[in-house]
Amino acid sequence: MEPRTKHFKHALIGFGGANMLVAAYLIRHTAVPAKDILIVDPHFDGGDLRRKWGQVISNTTWNQFLKVLQDMNLELPPGTQGYPGDEPTPLNVLASTLQTAIAPYIRPCMRIKGSLISAAKRHATWELEITGHRAKHTADILHVAPGGEPIDLPFPVPEIPLHIALTPQLIQEYVSTGQTVAVFGSAHSSILVAENIVRAGGSVNMIFKRIPGAKAEAFLFARDGAYDGVKQTAAVAADQILADGMGRRVYLIPVDDTVAVHSALDESSWTVYGIGFKPRGLKLDGPAGAIQLGVPGRQQGDDGIYTWGIAYPSYTDGADGRKYPDVSLPSFAAHILQIRPGAA
Ligand SMILES: Cc1cc2nc3c(=O)[nH]c(=O)nc-3n(C[C@H](O)[C@H](O)[C@H](O)COP(=O)(O)OP(=O)(O)OC[C@H]3O[C@@H](n4cnc5c(N)ncnc54)[C@H](O)[C@@H]3O)c2cc1C
Repeated sequence: MEPRTKHFKHALIGFGGANMLVAAYLIRHTAVPAKDILIVDPHFDGGDLRRKWGQVISNTTWNQFLKVLQDMNLELPPGTQGYPGDEPTPLNVLASTLQTAIAPYIRPCMRIKGSLISAAKRHATWELEITGHRAKHTADILHVAPGGEPIDLPFPVPEIPLHIALTPQLIQEYVSTGQTVAVFGSAHSSILVAENIVRAGGSVNMIFKRIPGAKAEAFLFARDGAYDGVKQTAAVAADQILADGMGRRVYLIPVDDTVAVHSALDESSWTVYGIGFKPRGLKLDGPAGAIQLGVPGRQQGDDGIYTWGIAYPSYTDGADGRKYPDVSLPSFAAHILQIRPGAA
């Protein structure tokens, strides 16, 4: 017997911070009934903000997060512990607060615990293949927010996963006192990693790309006018690195100094890569063949697909002439409210 087909107006692929906000937008800002929304995620736990980065201190303030809830027409859940408005918070607090705030509104949605294996467009409809489900699920519009994995490089030096290196309690299981770690990158997460390694008793070779025009060639600071530059806890740590290498434990090495980079890698027991994210891949087939997301020329809504979150960030032009990927809940919310996806 042919499996039954269930059709939805919107299918949300992944339910991390980005698609939680898309769900809030659709349910709280448009006339789309929640029962016309399908949500697919293998865990429904709040995504990487809780799973991987939970112990990381945010670079956004509690007030910025409260504004996200307000802009999305969500209420702060009763009993939520308050935080000083202009201070950062651990990221698991943001994940769990958002998850609790959205929970009552997504109850009527169809939720499937699984992963999208592939999606194929037949006529105007997306046919979805989902792990563990024989029933056919179809949708008019896909919201793709599968999150991303840290980019790494092929050096044959043992690697500490970024989420471990960002968690002070876990990094001690890797780094022993006196060991040296090569940390690639000099943005928010690499700076916090360097601080964690020093606290664990190690030293750091921080390999950075020179930033032309920056006051300190290794770091772009928000206080110097860089859009989404280093701020909050990471800015304090970066100042310590510039002052005395955090007590002569962090050495700054420009990536274009290949001799220095080679010897830095030679003396390092571990590597950590804080150099950006690549999207988790999905197999999407349109009438003309495989669809590539996040490529130049693709517009939001093309083929009935919207892409969101850290996998497919929007970009803002900074006053310093650079393009900055927008990878925070406030910027995800702003992006969704600007695009107003498939509301009609
Ligand atoms: C180090 C670091 C610090 C950050 N600090 C902040 C901060 O201070 N403030 C802030 O607002 N933001 C911050 N962010 C950014 C951002 O809020 C988080 O990265 C957030 O987790 C991204 O949400 P997402 O929904 O794009 O991805 P994720 O949270 O990764 O969610 C994606 C979901 O999709 C699921 N999925 C993957 N593949 C499939 C599939 N095939 N089918 C179905 N589901 C799938 C995954 O299991 C996951 O649940 C930070 C990010 C990092 C990395």
